[in-house]
Amino acid sequence: MIEVGRFEVFSVVTGSIRLDGGAMFGVVPRVLWQGTEDVDGMNRILLVTRTLVAVDREAGRVMLADTGVGNKWRPNEARRYAVEDRPEALEDALRKHGLSAGDVTDVVITHAHFDHCGGLTEWKAEPGGEVRVRYPGARHWVHEKHWQHAVSPHERDCASFMARDFSILEDEGVLEKVRGDAPDAPMEGISWFLSHGHTPCLLLPLIEDPDAPLLFTGDMIPTSTHLPPLWVMAYDLEPLVTIEEKKKVLGMCRSGLILAFPHDRRMGGCIVNATGKGPRVETPLDLDP
Ligand SMILES: [Zn+2]
Repeated sequence: MIEVGRFEVFSVVTGSIRLDGGAMFGVVPRVLWQGTEDVDGMNRILLVTRTLVAVDREAGRVMLADTGVGNKWRPNEARRYAVEDRPEALEDALRKHGLSAGDVTDVVITHAHFDHCGGLTEWKAEPGGEVRVRYPGARHWVHEKHWQHAVSPHERDCASFMARDFSILEDEGVLEKVRGDAPDAPMEGISWFLSHGHTPCLLLPLIEDPDAPLLFTGDMIPTSTHLPPLWVMAYDLEPLVTIEEKKKVLGMCRSGLILAFPHDRRMGGCIVNATGKGPRVETPLDLDP
């Protein structure tokens, strides 16, 4: 856990998946990344799913960014991605800080891909039946343009969206859609960073601090291995846009910005050395709860 501005910040591993290594690194050949990744016999690399938690005790706010893979998987789907869910991990972490799921006031849906929003909902009773919202008292933040895309995706990325994870949120009235290129801040001490390369209007929380603000990078920079601007996922709809956005973020790192990742199995986040030939991890951050 670290303190950033008004917030206590920690990162919780809520599960893991394996995704095709080639898809995770785009045009970067395997010989360059196999040494740092956990690769299985089907060329799938191990990725954890992390929820970033930011707690403002004074204002009584508990914000979650991303909610992991969740537990509503059919066996054949779970096998395809080697899905492992740790349903108790988030509540255990909250309990450690004297909090419970009922204290969650805000949930950021960076985007609605299944490995980031599976934990928004859970089965109401028997698996395969109706779902219910996991944090019914919380505001659920999403960009309206991303929401439009998620409910009606392109055929190229439709496999990344599972409507059962999120569609009920609209009916339940818990969605807070943010709009435009410079959306209003959701609360004191948090602003939004929008990214468009991975998917339309990826909504990333930036926790303000005069010296070392923190950005949850979402799938713009899924792991520390993806720090070099050209190491971009094949999943990205606009890879050239991601490259420019990463260059901008690395410029912000030179002014003190620290990063927290959604999928890194080795670290929740890091201080980046972006001054040399290529960006690299200067110091891993202890973001464990
Ligand atoms: Zn994604």
